[in-house]
Amino acid sequence: MHAEVDQDLCISCGTCIDVCPDVFEWNDDEKAHSVVDEIPPELEDQASEAAENCPTDAITVN
Ligand code: SF4
Repeated sequence: MHAEVDQDLCISCGTCIDVCPDVFEWNDDEKAHSVVDEIPPELEDQASEAAENCPTDAITVN
């Protein structure tokens, strides 16, 4: 599973980083981004929850 954050849609609310800090972190533009290429199986639920709770649907997981 991979996660991608649309930088144009991210409003820097921090929800994804709160929900799944092992996958999402802030970048230099103060937007969230994924820091792992392949999401470990044990983090897939967290990553999906982060995507579902993103207020702007900026996160794609597949
Ligand atoms: S939850 Fe969405 S809008 Fe909020 S920081 Fe993460 S990617 Fe950005």
